[in-house]
Amino acid sequence: MKRVSVFGATGSIGQNTLDLIARERDAYDVVALTGGGNIGQLAKDAKALQAEVAVTAYPEKLDELRDALAGSGVEAAAGPEAIAEAADRPADWIMSAIVGAAGLVPGLRALRHGTTLALANKESLVTAGPHLMAEAKRHGARILPVDSEHSAVFQGLVGENIEDVERIVITASGGALRDWPLEQLGAATLADACAHPNWDMGQRITIDSASMFNKALELIETREFFDVAPEQIEAVVHPQSLIHALVGFRDGALMAHIGPPDMRHAIGYALHWPDRKHLPVARLDLAQIATLEFRPACEKRWPALRLAREVMHLRGLAGACFNAAKESALDAFIAGQIGFLTMTEVVERTLEQTQAREGLDSATVSLDNILAVDHLSRTRAVEIAAQLAGAHTD
Ligand code: NAD
Ligand code: MG
Repeated sequence: MKRVSVFGATGSIGQNTLDLIARERDAYDVVALTGGGNIGQLAKDAKALQAEVAVTAYPEKLDELRDALAGSGVEAAAGPEAIAEAADRPADWIMSAIVGAAGLVPGLRALRHGTTLALANKESLVTAGPHLMAEAKRHGARILPVDSEHSAVFQGLVGENIEDVERIVITASGGALRDWPLEQLGAATLADACAHPNWDMGQRITIDSASMFNKALELIETREFFDVAPEQIEAVVHPQSLIHALVGFRDGALMAHIGPPDMRHAIGYALHWPDRKHLPVARLDLAQIATLEFRPACEKRWPALRLAREVMHLRGLAGACFNAAKESALDAFIAGQIGFLTMTEVVERTLEQTQAREGLDSATVSLDNILAVDHLSRTRAVEIAAQLAGAHTD
């Protein structure tokens, strides 16, 4: 039996992961499931899968979780430290699917035990790429990418030498506002940004798809995970979301990974790696698809992509600042405080100010420094968002 834990079990990736586990119930021993405020879902899944422990991120929800688990034999725990401790419980495979930088510490804790980490939480790599990869190496732990693009690249590299790779092309759907005229983007509402044409995902990543911050994070994620130069990484808009990424080799060959937009493929690949097993995803009818469409990923329309290039060049703690500022700007947009385009402005200004004052590129990438810059950048981004919100309403 494979011992598995799922962090962020109540979310979109978490639920897809549990779906695959539940289909082969006898093959898995479920150790820990973690969630946030959706106690009903967390308790239901923990009981159904007979998990050892269920953990909510919110201490004030502990009594509710205890009540929901009463008599089931599943332990209840709460709070960020309890989530990190759940990552200390012996497991063979852990799904890291918490959204945001909150996923970093539990992932690091799992790596320290040599546990295989299936990484959906791209923010870990953006925030702490060099540290995370070094920790995995030091403890002999494996990280398997779950972001669909990175899973596609990973699969494209099987049997290949990374030195033969000339380019990596990451595809982007373009998100909910892909076809909007440029001059209307500033007026996009929360509901507009949440209507993703292809993928069914959590709210935050769906909005990040519309702003292209998701793709910006993924370019940085590519740089950190595969250790390729920023100049080798490209983005292209592919509205159908059928090709997830392409790997270009020195002989000019391009290997594309094609599949339906269903995260259970990338999750299942990481779950069964190095084997392949049957997965309940749709099979594509190429004749019916007929054509594959591509468009340039315009940095004028999506300035987040330009910022990603800056972050990749700065490196150091720039990713931690970029991600934290992005998370704060997203909070402000969701709260109706700032407009859609102001998100990028907040991130750009936070990055500029933090680089000017703290020197992001020259700092040591330790966990303490990462967490300090994350905190400082959030505070700064909140201030900048408030200023910009004020300026725009005057
Ligand atoms: P989601 O919002 O649907 O779920 C997030 C999960 O994290 C939930 O279980 C929630 O309770 C938990 N959570 C939220 N804040 C937390 C905190 N502070 N501490 C502990 N737990 C917390 O998100 P999602 O769409 O499933 O995305 C999860 C991660 O996977 C993200 O990093 C996202 O970028 C990445 N990802 C998602 C998809 C997708 O299809 N949804 C695709 C690729 C990558
Ligand atoms: Mg992705």
